[in-house]
Formats: sequence, C-alpha cells, structure tokens
Amino acid sequence: MTSDGSMFTKQTPYFAFCHGFNKDQKGVTVSFDAVSASLLMDVPEEGDGRYSALAKLITYNIDIRLPHDKFIELKDDMGYPEEGSWSRMDVSSGGKYTLAVRNADTDLNLDEEQPRAFLRQLSINELEPVKKRVALPRINTSRSEIKKLLIGKRIGGPTFISVYNVGQGLCCALCDEKSAAPLLYFDFGCGCYANAHTRPREMKFCFSQEPPIVLSHWHSDHYMGAKLLDDAALDMKWLAPYQYNVCTTTSKFAAFLHCNRNLLMWPDDLSYLNVPFGTIVKCKGGMLNRSGLALIARTYTTQGENEHSFKTLLPGDAGYDDICDSNMIFDAFVATHHGGDTTGNVPKSMGDEPIFAISYGNRNSYEHPKDQRMNDIMNAGWRRRLNTVDGNIALCWRGDNLPMLGCGGKECSLHIQQI
Ligand SMILES: [Zn+2]
Ligand SMILES: [Zn+2]
Repeated sequence: MTSDGSMFTKQTPYFAFCHGFNKDQKGVTVSFDAVSASLLMDVPEEGDGRYSALAKLITYNIDIRLPHDKFIELKDDMGYPEEGSWSRMDVSSGGKYTLAVRNADTDLNLDEEQPRAFLRQLSINELEPVKKRVALPRINTSRSEIKKLLIGKRIGGPTFISVYNVGQGLCCALCDEKSAAPLLYFDFGCGCYANAHTRPREMKFCFSQEPPIVLSHWHSDHYMGAKLLDDAALDMKWLAPYQYNVCTTTSKFAAFLHCNRNLLMWPDDLSYLNVPFGTIVKCKGGMLNRSGLALIARTYTTQGENEHSFKTLLPGDAGYDDICDSNMIFDAFVATHHGGDTTGNVPKSMGDEPIFAISYGNRNSYEHPKDQRMNDIMNAGWRRRLNTVDGNIALCWRGDNLPMLGCGGKECSLHIQQI
C-alpha cells in the first residue's frame, strides 16, 4: 500500500470534486474525489477515446477533517464547499490541510502518514476543460432499446420486492416468487469510504436471470456494490439517468460500463415509461439525488383463485415530490435517502398494516435515519418499519414463511430474513 501512497504524493496537483461536507459536534468533514490534474488533461476532450482513457484513470477519495473554526478558513480557500464544486489540490509537506486518502476504486486506505495539501477554487477557465473530460458518457439510447431491455424481460409469475442489507447504501430487486431470484435490480450500492465499516464483508448476488440494473442516480452508495461486493454486476446491462456534475470516479465507472456496451442512458425527454412490472419515472428535482430515476413497482401474488397486486415506491434518494402526485397510494415503500432529509409529503398508505423499509448502515456518518423523518412516516399511517441492518427484507410478500432461494443459499447471500 505504501507504493500507492508515494504515487499519490508524486502525482500532484490534483483536481478535486467536492462531495459536500458533514458537520457534527466536534467539527466538519469535507469529502472530495480527486484525480491527477495532468493525467486528466491527457484524456481527450471528446470522442470514444475519452471513455477508454477515463476508464483507466486512478481516482482517490479524500476526507479533510477540521475543527469548526478552521472550516471557515477552508471556505475562504475553496469558495463554499458544496456538492459539485471543484478545487485544485496541491500536495506539499507544508500544506495547510491533512488528507485521509483512499483509492476510490478499492476503498483501501493509502497512507499511514497522512499527506498535507493546499486548496484553491478553480477559475472558470480552468473549470471548463475539467468538466468536459469528466462528463458522463453521452449515449443516445432509444426508447425501443429500453423497452427491449425491460419489457423484453419475461415476468411470467408472481413477484415481490426485496431490499438487501448492503450497509449505508441501497440495493433493491424485483424478485421471482418461486426462486426469490432478482429479475431486475434497482440500484447496486453499498456502504463505502467514510461508511466502509457498514458494508458486509462478503456478499454474493444472483444473476441467474440476467437481471438488468436500473440505477436511481450516480452516487457511489448506489452503484459501488458492483466494485466492492460482486463485480459480476459489471457484466449486466445498466439503465441510468444522464446527470450533470458528477465526480471522476463516477464518470470512470460509467465509461467502463460504456466501453463494454453495458450502459443505456435514459433519454432526456422521457418523463416516464410504463413497463410490465410498473413505471420508471424521471425525477423532476435538481442535483444528483433529485434528478435521477425512481421505480413505482407493481408486483403480484396468487392465493388460491385470488390474485393480489401491490404497488411499491422505490424512490432512491429523491424527494417524494420529485416523483409523483402526493395522492398516489402505495402498499409499501422504501424510505427515501436512507431515512435522511428529503422534500415532499410521505406517500399515502393502504392496507391494515402497511410496511416500509429503510436502508442504512449502523453508525453511519450521516446519522441516518433521522428521528424526525421516521416520525413523519409513522404519523402518515405506516405501521411497520423494517431496517436493512436487521437483514434482507421482502416487501409485499404474502406467504406465512420466508421466501426460499432457488439455490438454497448455496450460490448467493440473498436469503430473506424479514417479511
Ligand atoms: Zn444514497
Ligand atoms: Zn444520493
């Protein structure tokens, strides 16, 4: 690991994308995604060569931890450190800030001795060539390609929704009732970086039905499971929203999928698409959390002669008001943004004992879920709360016993522990 560490100090200066900051009682942690400035400038501005070059870059996740008074100085140096702002980071032994560096792909700590750096905001002239190179791949996916991917998926029998325990992140699936095998994943994330401790040590997923992966938005806690838990996910087809202002690690991930012809981009002018298992909605808000894709899933089960159908909201991290009308009624939902802050009214419930799920990791850096948000949900009539930290969850499952995996748990770790 030390050779990686000395590589890091040698490749200075860096262009650092700010993920935002997190305040607690003791101080502030500002998080960055950094890439060597010269290596990024070697990436062609456009054309297919841009994607293959992007996919080869080495990127770093960097945290700067500061007491409250020093945070004011950092704000002066880099402008306000909000999500999406770019800085130049010069590593130097006399630098002003101490860096905690991880390789952004492997999530491994690099330095025992923490390097130091200076920071300054990028000028508009410096910013433009950076943003051009780091933009997500522009892929023109047609509606018929998306339909072929999603509607072509035979969903022949009863289904349910699962929410897996991946730590501070999100990974859900629409599963076949008989085998509990995912027919489609909605997000493939996990706890990473500051929340690496929340990620399960080992986890194997099921790809027996060649499930496509619908990505809600381009935050690492929603896609890094494909790197850090089970890289077989990289061989599946991904359907993702085109989003602006992403970090280099994200663009690199997308470029890799694109180079392997596994990335489809949701068309800008498509506000929703009805598919046999529900509706995929393009969220109406701004920033990464609120401008991605949400799923209103329709699943069904049979009991004797009767067929029951269920409607479940999977919002990713979007505001409820970014997705649909607040009068829409659901049988179940996954609380948005890991139970953190959001916008819009809690969805309306139906049934006697409506269930909602929350995906988060114990002792996460954001202190999710927030008590106030949980009260809002309970006050809106949702009676039962299931947490992924207590095990994998099935929603809209009507059997008395837990769903059983077709492989009996020999091939994957997706056994359901809560219904
Ligand atoms: Zn998230
Ligand atoms: Zn997010």
